[in-house]
Amino acid sequence: MPFMADSLLQRSRAAVWHPCTQMKQHAPGAMSPLPLLPVARGEGAWLVGTDGRRWLDGISSWWVNLFGHCHPRINAALRDQLDTLEHVILAGCTHAPVVELSERLAALTGNALGHCFYASDGASATEIALKMSAHYWRNGGRPEKHRYLCLAGGYHGETVGALGVTDIPLFRDAYAPLLRAATVLPSPDARQGTDAVRVAIDALAAHLDAHHAETAALIVEPLVQCAAGMAMHDPEYLRQARALCDRHQVHLIADEIAVGLGRTGTFFAHEQAGTDKTARPDFLCLSKGITGGYLPLSVVMTRDTIYEAFYDDATARGFLHSHSYTGNPLACRAALATLDIFDRDDVLKANTVKSDRIDALLRPLADHPRVRHYRRRGMIFAFDVDADAGFGRRFYRESLDRGALLRPIGNTVYLMPPYILDDTQIELLCRVAGEALVAALAP
Ligand SMILES: *Cc1c(COP(=O)(O)O)cnc(C)c1O
Repeated sequence: MPFMADSLLQRSRAAVWHPCTQMKQHAPGAMSPLPLLPVARGEGAWLVGTDGRRWLDGISSWWVNLFGHCHPRINAALRDQLDTLEHVILAGCTHAPVVELSERLAALTGNALGHCFYASDGASATEIALKMSAHYWRNGGRPEKHRYLCLAGGYHGETVGALGVTDIPLFRDAYAPLLRAATVLPSPDARQGTDAVRVAIDALAAHLDAHHAETAALIVEPLVQCAAGMAMHDPEYLRQARALCDRHQVHLIADEIAVGLGRTGTFFAHEQAGTDKTARPDFLCLSKGITGGYLPLSVVMTRDTIYEAFYDDATARGFLHSHSYTGNPLACRAALATLDIFDRDDVLKANTVKSDRIDALLRPLADHPRVRHYRRRGMIFAFDVDADAGFGRRFYRESLDRGALLRPIGNTVYLMPPYILDDTQIELLCRVAGEALVAALAP
């Protein structure tokens, strides 16, 4: 049914409560209005509006879309699956897509993480890893190990349990009385200086010395704390944190919901700290890009030794967590098609070329007098802008006017594009970023 853009926007405001949004900012005549884009179609890296406008999706539709919209191979896999099996209960039933996906993901960890547990979104994956960790210690006769550690600026989702290990005050403060807060340790964010890793590791070591007996797990976002504003750190932090967790019998949870699937240059971000079995996290959370941005799916991968601690005659020693759509076959097929694209197109290798190309065009902005801390890792590029609080929204509007969807986090501008950009699209995206920066800073 064709909609006039205006009527679609009106109806959306009247009936849809949009996520992560102060709805009043979408009201016509708002003080500093935030556009609501009426999207009719997706074509590769482009979003096409109901009114024919086009925006290059520079943030992969909230970091999920790896290979563009309406990718022919993912679409074909989904059409086939749709006519085969759309969904079935995963308690007591199994199916080929979930088995194949679990096997292939395990193989991608060198079989260090041999079992996969499924849910539908990232926050649930966090909840599952937290619950599995504490339940593992309980099954092992150590029920007092149920406290969690997280990093300053860390983000692990917004359900009540996940918010307890999330350190973003804007998302957390209103719900503080509901939460069981974790201990927040210093982040190794490289912007803090050359000794950021040492400071963060010293704090972790000191905390574990005193509190390992009641600590179940440390949860981290390997290499890039995305929601904190693309805060990047050296893989050395992960190496040392892994060693400390081992020494103190504390689990390491790697939340790769945003940084997995090639985003940081390696298939999994933690691989940059080592690919030995022992270098792997105890729990690895994946979501966002896992289905190529098509369907909600999340996975918690873990070691067979952890799985075995739940394997017992007693029902209550099992992991009795579930979601209605656990292991949905359509989502698993989209994930398998996504893994196929990685294999067949040698995506990681192609991305190193694209990443250098984006860097070459974007890095000159580092010389702008108001730009701080230009940084990149893999297919994530970011810089901070010394400006007033309204800068981000102005930048967003200026980029949309120039044909790109770029949505700063606070005053941090970032690019997190799909992996399919061609040279022309890369040039457009970088040019828009530069022009929008100047326009949004203009008095
Ligand atoms: C997005 C994100 C989550 C939450 O995923 P949802 O699917 O939005 O619940 C958790 N951790 C990280 C690192 C994320 O980027």
